[in-house]
Amino acid sequence: MDKDIQATARGFHCILCNVNIPNKASLEAHLKGRKHMTLSNVRATRNAQVEHSVFVSGIKPDTAQADLVGYFQQFGPVSEIIMDKDKGLYAIVEFNEKDSLQATLAKLEHDMNGLKLRVKPRETKEFKLIPKKKQDFKNLKQILERLTPELCQTSSVNEQMQEVVERFQLGENEKKARELLVQLLQEVFMEFFPDCQIVPFGSSVNSFDIHSCDLDLFLDLDNTKVFQAKAKSSSEQEGPLDDARSEDSILSDIDLSTASPTEVLELVVTILRKCVPGVHKVMPVSGARLPVVKFLHKELNLQGDITINNRLAVRNTRFLQLCSGLDSRLRPLVYTIRYWAKQKLLAGNPTGAGPLLNNYALTLLVIFYLQKCDPPVLPTVNQLKDMACDEEVCVIEGWNCTFPSQPIAVPSSKNTQDLCALLSGFFSFYAQFDFASSVISIREGCSLPVTSFFNQDKAHKDAEEQEKSRRPKLGPFNVLDPFELCHNVAGNLTERSQRNFQRECQEAEKYCRSLQYQRKSTKGKVWGLVRLFTPRDDVNRRVVEGAERELAISVPFKPASLPEALRSQLHSADDGFRLLWFQKVCSAVEGVFQKVLRCSLTDTAIRTNTEENMAPPCGKSAADQGEDTSRPASTSSDCSPQSKATPRAKRALPSSESSDASVSPQGKRPRLDSYSGPQPDSPQWTYVQTHRVWAGRRKVRRELVKGVMDVDSRPEGSSEELETQVTQHIMEKEPEDKEPLEFQVQAQLISGTESTKAVISFRPSADGAGLFQDFYHFLEMFLPKMADTLIGKMV
Ligand code: ATP
Ligand code: MG
Repeated sequence: MDKDIQATARGFHCILCNVNIPNKASLEAHLKGRKHMTLSNVRATRNAQVEHSVFVSGIKPDTAQADLVGYFQQFGPVSEIIMDKDKGLYAIVEFNEKDSLQATLAKLEHDMNGLKLRVKPRETKEFKLIPKKKQDFKNLKQILERLTPELCQTSSVNEQMQEVVERFQLGENEKKARELLVQLLQEVFMEFFPDCQIVPFGSSVNSFDIHSCDLDLFLDLDNTKVFQAKAKSSSEQEGPLDDARSEDSILSDIDLSTASPTEVLELVVTILRKCVPGVHKVMPVSGARLPVVKFLHKELNLQGDITINNRLAVRNTRFLQLCSGLDSRLRPLVYTIRYWAKQKLLAGNPTGAGPLLNNYALTLLVIFYLQKCDPPVLPTVNQLKDMACDEEVCVIEGWNCTFPSQPIAVPSSKNTQDLCALLSGFFSFYAQFDFASSVISIREGCSLPVTSFFNQDKAHKDAEEQEKSRRPKLGPFNVLDPFELCHNVAGNLTERSQRNFQRECQEAEKYCRSLQYQRKSTKGKVWGLVRLFTPRDDVNRRVVEGAERELAISVPFKPASLPEALRSQLHSADDGFRLLWFQKVCSAVEGVFQKVLRCSLTDTAIRTNTEENMAPPCGKSAADQGEDTSRPASTSSDCSPQSKATPRAKRALPSSESSDASVSPQGKRPRLDSYSGPQPDSPQWTYVQTHRVWAGRRKVRRELVKGVMDVDSRPEGSSEELETQVTQHIMEKEPEDKEPLEFQVQAQLISGTESTKAVISFRPSADGAGLFQDFYHFLEMFLPKMADTLIGKMV
């Protein structure tokens, strides 16, 4: 086994990546995965460096690098010298060959022009990933405790929001320090890249700065390229260019017109490491969406990023600046929502690599909401484009990034809502937003159905491939960049992070309707924003979630993983795509119980979701009753024929393999609008299970596939045939239960009031032997996976 892998009681542990892995199949995937490969490569490079280098102390601050090269070359060719440039106390000398290292260490005394040097082998540290410190609940709480008295002293939520801005924004001195660092970098980089420009972007300059925000920089080499091209052509014609700068620059080492971004970034790394005082921990990150060099400025305690390919980000920074200038309510809203999201562990992912929203994506969500207010607070990006004049036309990498440069060119909003109302409006808006089936477009100021992004044209394979690379990566949370229209800025979110975001919005929405939010407490209690900012405690949360659990299993709408043929059908179904998908889920659920788990169907019914019969998901009505809107409709008691004498309507179910794609389960034309409108009726089945088909499944599965293939390569629920065989096997071997289990299953489509999903709720109706809990526990894992497998086979 790989030396990084340890077998544990629950599977495996990768020491290098510091992760637990449940089974062999996942282990194989992990070992071939990007994270493990990258870390292995970095470790190999580090080890090679260590084996080739020595640690030298005893040097003086004025010791030149060239002196060290000159001295150590006597032992063999030197490949690199890294000097401690701030204090000038030590250096690391790296040789091309290992033998040179032995020769250096063999010499007892090192005298470099009268300077006594001490030379040691480099220390080898175990290389493994140290996980970043997670936001500590206690820490988040302490920061809020410091903020609380000031917030409570104000007289309104509006004032509290302004206070949040005051507390978090960068002070004048901090801004000045950042400017000076940019200036210093500009001067140093000019030495090496004549006419280059260091352009700050991101939160330091987009008007949403906070004390700890990083310094995002773009190294613009366009003018340097022109300079280099000129120098080249004139030297070809009439000898070297008469410009002193060309001698100092490193342009003789690199041709910018052909160099790869990685090559240029390597130079940036070298310049930062060797020539910029105060800069430490310089690290290129080439695997990121845009390659970047990260560094730390120690004295300013400032994290910096330099990119070379990021003109779009500079432009979207200008766009955010413009939006701030268009309406003064945007800043306090964004600061408040960013802080809320941070406290609730929903955002704050600077690299966009984890499953949380980053601040840019979150800001776009605020802008979108303001575009959707009635009347709108902010115009759409298309409207802004039309307000720009000819000189403001801007196209970057083929994307139209035109908007007016000054707010004055844009008429002011007619919306007069105050900050307090806008903030609670934000939560209501996203509490009821159908994330799974929508794509948010700030450009158009509306949400587009996700199916409109499914490409139907299969005739032109090449064109399709090309088109694919310009299509956004769809997921549970889809927010299109306003300019780079093929980029989903929330493409890194998982279903779980999307669910958490929506759940927190629902909770915030409920709180915002209370008096505690709207009015200052006369008894000195906390009020307004303070409770909204209470950090989310993951541990407590899990306990509460567990306690509140009900017998309902979700099958989320996951358009990205549907088979192509089904995606085409959904695409043609237009507005009816949700219903069509729901129909497929219903067929799959029937398939799981009837074919795979061999339950006998004893009754079917259709519950019509008329106004009075329809339980929440309809966000508002549910919330008005003080219920958790995230709960599925018609769960437990509600779906039972016994709880209401008879269901509203009871009809035979349509054939599960109905061929008319545009017809809903109950045979009506689908009607589902984006935000409201009737929900489809909910089919309900009553089943009897005579055998404990859930008990010992894993063992039976393992035996059935023994010798045929690696068990772990066929995870539970991935094969209809295999799972059916497993059930059959159990039914043949195990005795029938004396008191068979009878239970009801109801499927309901949730959409329009939150993310599209099917909720399958359960109710045991005869369970004399107390089997249902076990069965349900098994279904929680099995049903969504098996349903996905069956949907994957449908056309
Ligand atoms: P903070 O640094 O406070 O988290 P920020 O706005 O600077 O906020 P960064 O993640 O540092 O966020 O990103 C810097 C800039 O890069 C953003 O302001 C934006 O212009 C651009 N950017 C970040 N993420 C994306 C993205 N997913 N898509 C497009 N541009 C992005
Ligand atoms: Mg930033």
